[in-house]
Amino acid sequence: MLDPQTCEAAMQRRDQAFDGRFFVAVKTTRIYCRPVCKARMPKRENVRFYPTAAAAEQAGFRPCLRCRPETAPFCPAWKGSGATVERALRLIEEGVLDRESLQALADRLGVSARHVSRLFQQHLDASPRQVAKTLRVQRAKRLLHETDLPIAQIAIRAGFSSSRRMTAAFADLYRRSPSELRGKSRGLRRQGDDCLPATRSRPPP
Ligand SMILES: [Zn+2]
Repeated sequence: MLDPQTCEAAMQRRDQAFDGRFFVAVKTTRIYCRPVCKARMPKRENVRFYPTAAAAEQAGFRPCLRCRPETAPFCPAWKGSGATVERALRLIEEGVLDRESLQALADRLGVSARHVSRLFQQHLDASPRQVAKTLRVQRAKRLLHETDLPIAQIAIRAGFSSSRRMTAAFADLYRRSPSELRGKSRGLRRQGDDCLPATRSRPPP
Protein backbone atom coordinates (compact mmCIF):
# COMPACT_ATOMS: atom_id res chain seq x y z
CA MET A 1 0.00 0.00 0.00
CA LEU A 2 1.17 3.51 -0.82
CA ASP A 3 1.92 5.83 2.08
CA PRO A 4 -0.77 8.37 3.08
CA GLN A 5 1.32 11.39 2.00
CA THR A 6 1.67 10.02 -1.54
CA CYS A 7 -2.05 9.23 -1.63
CA GLU A 8 -3.02 12.65 -0.41
CA ALA A 9 -0.77 14.46 -2.90
CA ALA A 10 -2.14 12.29 -5.74
CA MET A 11 -5.70 13.00 -4.62
CA GLN A 12 -5.06 16.77 -4.51
CA ARG A 13 -3.73 16.63 -8.09
CA ARG A 14 -6.46 14.16 -9.15
CA ASP A 15 -3.52 12.31 -10.67
CA GLN A 16 -4.60 9.83 -13.38
CA ALA A 17 -1.43 7.80 -12.83
CA PHE A 18 -2.76 6.76 -9.41
CA ASP A 19 -6.22 5.81 -10.60
CA GLY A 20 -6.81 2.24 -9.43
CA ARG A 21 -3.74 2.19 -7.18
CA PHE A 22 -5.70 3.35 -4.17
CA PHE A 23 -9.17 4.51 -3.17
CA VAL A 24 -10.25 7.43 -1.04
CA ALA A 25 -12.90 6.78 1.60
CA VAL A 26 -14.67 9.65 3.33
CA LYS A 27 -15.69 8.92 6.90
CA THR A 28 -18.44 11.56 7.04
CA THR A 29 -20.32 10.37 3.94
CA ARG A 30 -19.31 6.67 4.18
CA ILE A 31 -18.54 6.78 0.46
CA TYR A 32 -15.35 5.82 -1.32
CA CYS A 33 -14.02 7.30 -4.56
CA ARG A 34 -11.25 7.03 -7.09
CA PRO A 35 -8.45 9.56 -6.50
CA VAL A 36 -9.50 11.23 -9.78
CA CYS A 37 -13.08 11.89 -8.62
CA LYS A 38 -14.40 15.33 -9.54
CA ALA A 39 -16.45 15.53 -6.37
CA ARG A 40 -15.63 18.20 -3.81
CA MET A 41 -12.28 17.60 -2.12
CA PRO A 42 -12.86 16.03 1.30
CA LYS A 43 -11.15 17.34 4.43
CA ARG A 44 -7.93 15.50 5.19
CA GLU A 45 -9.04 14.43 8.66
CA ASN A 46 -12.14 12.74 7.21
CA VAL A 47 -10.24 10.69 4.67
CA ARG A 48 -8.93 7.14 4.80
CA PHE A 49 -7.01 5.42 2.01
CA TYR A 50 -7.48 1.82 0.88
CA PRO A 51 -5.47 -0.24 -1.59
CA THR A 52 -8.56 -1.80 -3.22
CA ALA A 53 -12.28 -1.20 -3.67
CA ALA A 54 -12.89 -4.47 -1.79
CA ALA A 55 -10.98 -3.14 1.22
CA ALA A 56 -13.06 0.04 1.30
CA GLU A 57 -16.26 -2.00 1.05
CA GLN A 58 -15.12 -4.44 3.72
CA ALA A 59 -14.61 -1.40 5.97
CA GLY A 60 -18.23 -0.39 5.34
CA PHE A 61 -17.89 2.27 2.62
CA ARG A 62 -20.14 2.49 -0.44
CA PRO A 63 -18.96 3.22 -3.97
CA CYS A 64 -19.38 6.77 -5.30
CA LEU A 65 -22.02 7.03 -7.99
CA ARG A 66 -20.16 9.77 -9.77
CA CYS A 67 -16.63 8.44 -10.29
CA ARG A 68 -17.81 4.83 -10.37
CA PRO A 69 -14.93 3.01 -8.66
CA GLU A 70 -15.94 -0.16 -10.50
CA THR A 71 -14.50 1.37 -13.68
CA ALA A 72 -11.08 2.15 -12.17
CA PRO A 73 -8.15 0.32 -13.71
CA PHE A 74 -6.73 -2.44 -11.54
CA CYS A 75 -3.02 -1.77 -11.29
CA PRO A 76 -1.32 -3.17 -8.20
CA ALA A 77 2.47 -3.07 -8.07
CA TRP A 78 2.83 -6.84 -8.13
CA LYS A 79 0.81 -7.30 -11.31
CA GLY A 80 2.73 -9.44 -13.79
CA SER A 81 4.84 -10.94 -11.04
CA GLY A 82 3.02 -14.27 -11.26
CA ALA A 83 2.69 -14.19 -7.50
CA THR A 84 0.14 -16.30 -5.63
CA VAL A 85 -2.11 -13.28 -5.07
CA GLU A 86 -2.11 -12.48 -8.76
CA ARG A 87 -2.96 -16.08 -9.69
CA ALA A 88 -5.68 -16.13 -7.04
CA LEU A 89 -7.15 -12.89 -8.36
CA ARG A 90 -7.25 -14.26 -11.88
CA LEU A 91 -9.16 -17.30 -10.65
CA ILE A 92 -11.55 -15.12 -8.66
CA GLU A 93 -12.10 -12.95 -11.74
CA GLU A 94 -12.89 -16.11 -13.66
CA GLY A 95 -15.57 -16.78 -11.06
CA VAL A 96 -14.02 -19.60 -9.01
CA LEU A 97 -15.29 -18.18 -5.71
CA ASP A 98 -18.75 -17.59 -7.23
CA ARG A 99 -19.09 -21.36 -7.59
CA GLU A 100 -16.60 -22.97 -5.23
CA SER A 101 -15.18 -22.70 -1.74
CA LEU A 102 -12.09 -20.85 -0.59
CA GLN A 103 -10.52 -24.26 0.02
CA ALA A 104 -11.06 -25.16 -3.64
CA LEU A 105 -9.35 -21.95 -4.66
CA ALA A 106 -6.44 -22.64 -2.31
CA ASP A 107 -6.13 -26.21 -3.65
CA ARG A 108 -5.74 -24.88 -7.16
CA LEU A 109 -2.98 -22.59 -5.97
CA GLY A 110 -1.27 -25.38 -4.04
CA VAL A 111 -1.35 -23.49 -0.74
CA SER A 112 -3.57 -23.53 2.36
CA ALA A 113 -6.77 -21.48 2.61
CA ARG A 114 -5.28 -19.68 5.59
CA HIS A 115 -2.26 -18.70 3.56
CA VAL A 116 -4.48 -17.25 0.80
CA SER A 117 -6.47 -15.27 3.37
CA ARG A 118 -3.29 -13.95 4.94
CA LEU A 119 -1.85 -12.88 1.59
CA PHE A 120 -5.08 -11.14 0.64
CA GLN A 121 -5.17 -9.27 3.93
CA GLN A 122 -1.57 -8.21 3.43
CA HIS A 123 -1.80 -7.10 -0.23
CA LEU A 124 -5.46 -6.16 -0.73
CA ASP A 125 -6.59 -5.43 2.82
CA ALA A 126 -9.68 -7.57 2.15
CA SER A 127 -10.69 -11.23 2.35
CA PRO A 128 -10.88 -13.38 -0.80
CA ARG A 129 -14.67 -13.62 -0.32
CA GLN A 130 -14.99 -9.83 -0.13
CA VAL A 131 -12.91 -9.45 -3.28
CA ALA A 132 -15.17 -11.93 -5.09
CA LYS A 133 -18.27 -10.09 -3.84
CA THR A 134 -16.94 -6.68 -4.90
CA LEU A 135 -16.04 -8.06 -8.33
CA ARG A 136 -19.52 -9.58 -8.80
CA VAL A 137 -21.23 -6.30 -8.00
CA GLN A 138 -18.75 -4.40 -10.20
CA ARG A 139 -19.38 -6.75 -13.14
CA ALA A 140 -23.12 -6.39 -12.65
CA LYS A 141 -22.92 -2.60 -12.39
CA ARG A 142 -20.90 -2.33 -15.59
CA LEU A 143 -23.49 -4.47 -17.38
CA LEU A 144 -26.31 -2.34 -15.99
CA HIS A 145 -24.65 0.80 -17.33
CA GLU A 146 -23.40 -0.53 -20.61
CA THR A 147 -26.06 -2.94 -21.80
CA ASP A 148 -29.83 -3.24 -21.95
CA LEU A 149 -29.77 -6.85 -20.75
CA PRO A 150 -32.59 -7.87 -18.41
CA ILE A 151 -31.69 -7.96 -14.70
CA ALA A 152 -31.95 -11.75 -14.50
CA GLN A 153 -29.40 -12.19 -17.27
CA ILE A 154 -27.05 -9.66 -15.75
CA ALA A 155 -27.17 -11.57 -12.46
CA ILE A 156 -26.07 -14.78 -14.15
CA ARG A 157 -23.37 -13.14 -16.25
CA ALA A 158 -21.99 -11.30 -13.24
CA GLY A 159 -21.67 -14.56 -11.28
CA PHE A 160 -24.64 -14.37 -8.91
CA SER A 161 -26.52 -17.58 -8.28
CA SER A 162 -29.84 -15.75 -8.74
CA SER A 163 -31.20 -12.27 -9.41
CA ARG A 164 -32.56 -12.29 -5.84
CA ARG A 165 -28.97 -12.58 -4.58
CA MET A 166 -27.87 -9.77 -6.84
CA THR A 167 -30.68 -7.54 -5.59
CA ALA A 168 -29.68 -8.33 -1.99
CA ALA A 169 -26.02 -7.48 -2.72
CA PHE A 170 -27.03 -4.17 -4.31
CA ALA A 171 -29.35 -3.32 -1.43
CA ASP A 172 -26.50 -4.05 0.96
CA LEU A 173 -23.93 -1.94 -0.88
CA TYR A 174 -25.88 0.83 -2.60
CA ARG A 175 -29.17 0.85 -0.69
CA ARG A 176 -30.76 0.69 -4.11
CA SER A 177 -32.01 -2.02 -6.42
CA PRO A 178 -30.15 -2.80 -9.67
CA SER A 179 -32.92 -1.25 -11.77
CA GLU A 180 -32.97 1.92 -9.65
CA LEU A 181 -29.23 2.27 -10.21
CA ARG A 182 -29.65 1.73 -13.91
CA GLY A 183 -32.23 4.53 -14.06
CA LYS A 184 -30.02 6.68 -11.83
CA SER A 185 -27.00 6.28 -14.10
CA ARG A 186 -29.05 7.37 -17.09
CA GLY A 187 -30.35 10.36 -15.17
CA LEU A 188 -26.81 11.25 -14.08
CA ARG A 189 -25.51 11.07 -17.63
CA ARG A 190 -28.33 13.33 -18.80
CA GLN A 191 -28.02 15.98 -16.14
CA GLY A 192 -24.30 15.78 -15.38
CA ASP A 193 -25.38 15.71 -11.77
CA ASP A 194 -23.02 16.14 -8.86
CA CYS A 195 -21.59 13.36 -6.72
CA LEU A 196 -24.61 11.85 -5.10
CA PRO A 197 -24.10 10.03 -1.86
CA ALA A 198 -25.43 6.52 -2.31
CA THR A 199 -27.60 6.94 0.71
CA ARG A 200 -31.30 6.86 0.88
CA SER A 201 -33.02 6.89 4.16
CA ARG A 202 -34.70 3.61 4.86
CA PRO A 203 -38.24 3.63 6.14
CA PRO A 204 -38.29 3.21 9.91
CA PRO A 205 -38.65 -0.43 10.96
ZN1 LIG B 1 -16.37 9.85 -6.46
